[in-house]
Amino acid sequence: MTPFLDALRQRLGEAGLLIGGDLSAYESDWRKRYPGRALAVARPASTAEVAAVLRLCQEHRVPVVPQGGNTGLVGGSTPDDSGGQLVLSLARMKRVRSIDAANASLTAEAGCVLADVQAAAAGAGLLFPLSLAAEGSCTLGGNLATNAGGTQVLRYGNARELCLGLEVVTAAGEVWQGLSGLRKDNTGYDLRDLFIGSEGTLGIITAATMKLYPQPRDRLTALAACASLDDAVALLGLARARAGDALTGFEVMSQASLALLARELPQLQQPLGAAAWTVLLELSDAESVEHARAAFEGLLGAAIEGGCVQDAAIAQSLQQALAFWHLRESIPLAQAQAGLNIKHDISLPVSAVSSFVAEMDAALAAYLPGIAVINFGHLGDGNLHYNVQAPAGVAPAEFLAAHEAAINAKVYDAVQRRGGSISAEHGIGRLKREELGRRKDPVALGLMRAIKKALDPQGLLNPGRLL
Ligand code: FAD
Repeated sequence: MTPFLDALRQRLGEAGLLIGGDLSAYESDWRKRYPGRALAVARPASTAEVAAVLRLCQEHRVPVVPQGGNTGLVGGSTPDDSGGQLVLSLARMKRVRSIDAANASLTAEAGCVLADVQAAAAGAGLLFPLSLAAEGSCTLGGNLATNAGGTQVLRYGNARELCLGLEVVTAAGEVWQGLSGLRKDNTGYDLRDLFIGSEGTLGIITAATMKLYPQPRDRLTALAACASLDDAVALLGLARARAGDALTGFEVMSQASLALLARELPQLQQPLGAAAWTVLLELSDAESVEHARAAFEGLLGAAIEGGCVQDAAIAQSLQQALAFWHLRESIPLAQAQAGLNIKHDISLPVSAVSSFVAEMDAALAAYLPGIAVINFGHLGDGNLHYNVQAPAGVAPAEFLAAHEAAINAKVYDAVQRRGGSISAEHGIGRLKREELGRRKDPVALGLMRAIKKALDPQGLLNPGRLL
């Protein structure tokens, strides 16, 4: 054992350090696109232990890859194949430290699984609204490190908007105690916002104080069939105008996405017939169940009358509402089953979404006949998962090797022309690092590099990711 690993073992004990054996769960990402080899896996159980690990890494110049639930989709949380990077798993730091109901806030450790944070808030009669399909395994620390979005951004904002304060261990092993529950604090640079979305490249998030909200009296979910994306955008406008803040979810699924679901996960029932676009809407109502239902029926009735919706189904029970959401949230799984694809997690002004899709669908069909576009996402936020799959009979790996660069160039050029972003919510990691270097404003990139240098002068925190 090297002096570094020896010192780590002494500090963390047997349970806190995994060396050798089967480390594959820590070494490969959810999509199995970035398999690597770890020097070891450190599993600290406290902030003090995280700080000790970072001090040792600094002393021995060992690079560190922070890891939460390892559900990230951009290759940020797994080691490279050098065998020299230490994986720092936060999985043992999963305590909800406190809930302050009067302040509507909750403080939890970084390794807390998102569903457990939601459950703790619900246990106190409050709502923690961050919600995404990976919530059964992703962690609060990972959510903040990637500034996760998900299905409730429309109403509550992304992870950044939900965060009040952070506790962070710096590259030098110091602890920044910033767990403030304050909604107002103008005392200089906003360090919290600096660490959020930094993908483990500036410091290790060990705990966070998050905002909570009142639980809605009722939540209603519906599916609506639209003949075009323009109609779906019109429905969004109508829903916003009529429901305002009560509109808490607005997701779209293309016909090809639902056909893929039917093929890969045939056990999932699809209540509406095939439509060019199926919208999932959610209304959360503070008044009463009756009020919620009347509002929803009024909205969908007006949409059908106005012509932007052809058919609709309102969930009649909580179980059916969950089944509607399950359809939407199962699309990534169906895609994973179908094989590797070229993912584009993009955002655009909502007004530009339809023209983007029309241009890109035509451009890709002309580029490679038979190509399959699986397009779905959070239309309410202008966020599409515009994913491209190989034509039938072409092996996914071959398809990616031959076409990924060309297809990315087409998609990202069209996004950039419309003032969009190449990463709406998944982050940059290794997948989009080169693309970011080419496309981000050079002044912004220079400032980001200067910040990285100031906070991590040895470049040991998640090297090769983001920048
Ligand atoms: P990891 O994957 O472990 O890590 C992600 C990044 O954060 C890595 O760079 C890692 O080094 C860093 N990191 C992790 N923990 C810490 C820490 N404590 N301190 C510093 N850095 C850290 N994302 C969305 O935004 N919206 C969605 O709707 C969404 N849907 C998804 C659906 C599926 C089926 C899957 C598999 C993923 C989805 N994701 C989505 C992506 C992913 O779940 C999120 O990015 C999530 O926030 C990652 O959390 P994690 O704990 O798994 O982090």
